[in-house]
Amino acid sequence: MSGIQGKVIAITGASSGIGEATAAYLAERGARLILGARREDRLKVVVDSITAKRGTATGVLVDVTRREDLQRLTDTALDQFGRLDVLISNAGTMAVSPFDDLRQDDWDAMVATHITGLLNGIGAALPIFRRQCSGQFVNVGSTAAYVVKSPQAVYAATKTAVKVLTEGLRQESGPDLRVTLVSPGFTNTEGIGKGASPEVAAAMTRQRDEIAMPPSAIASAIGYAIEQPDGVDVSEIVVRPTPQA
Ligand code: NDP
Repeated sequence: MSGIQGKVIAITGASSGIGEATAAYLAERGARLILGARREDRLKVVVDSITAKRGTATGVLVDVTRREDLQRLTDTALDQFGRLDVLISNAGTMAVSPFDDLRQDDWDAMVATHITGLLNGIGAALPIFRRQCSGQFVNVGSTAAYVVKSPQAVYAATKTAVKVLTEGLRQESGPDLRVTLVSPGFTNTEGIGKGASPEVAAAMTRQRDEIAMPPSAIASAIGYAIEQPDGVDVSEIVVRPTPQA
């Protein structure tokens, strides 16, 4: 199946920012969406705004660090539509701080969300894609995996893992599956500075206000990768606002 129309697409981290914008973009183009996140109220707002425009979306409470939650997300796609065409692993946290702050819970959260969370998605979706002999993984990385800037090392390390896991998965995917890494630069979302140490949060927020691009820029990059014909795998897209070094 080529294009976006009619595809069954699950998105993690769909309650705000890039995930929310991607859900809106794909719904407008006729995708049938299963949307996962932890904040029920925010997820409901996203689902309601899509269904109000006659789009198709269901919300599922998902913490990507929990294997069974990803299973529930993909099971919902199978129960409702009998298939899953794309899994977009987008959930993330940018709780950035210098090492000396010893914010070890934040380090754990980034490792769990970006690495374990991505693996949980692969574990849930890969058997479905193999059975169908079709399917696409779209993994959201970061430009932090290309240029490490202090004090983002832990975040950058986990996003480097996303990049490496995506490439390894692509190499093993065979002729039937597609695997795409989309790496955003500075994007204007509520995630910028959220959970970061106060000085870092202030600097990130200032930079966001000065240079960030809208999340729709990432949504359309993801849409581009999905809408290609079945035999065309867009392996990697990096999107930066022009002022970003
Ligand atoms: P937001 O904070 O707006 O979105 C993050 C999303 O992830 C939310 O929907 C949040 O939902 C969800 N999330 C976080 N932790 C979990 C979890 N454990 N389980 C399920 N969902 C979770 O930020 P962005 O939209 O900016 O971030 C989206 C992705 O883009 C992230 O992976 C981020 O690293 C990446 N990125 C962002 C950049 C930027 O400049 N904004 C730059 C490069 C990459 P909830 O809290 O409801 O669970």
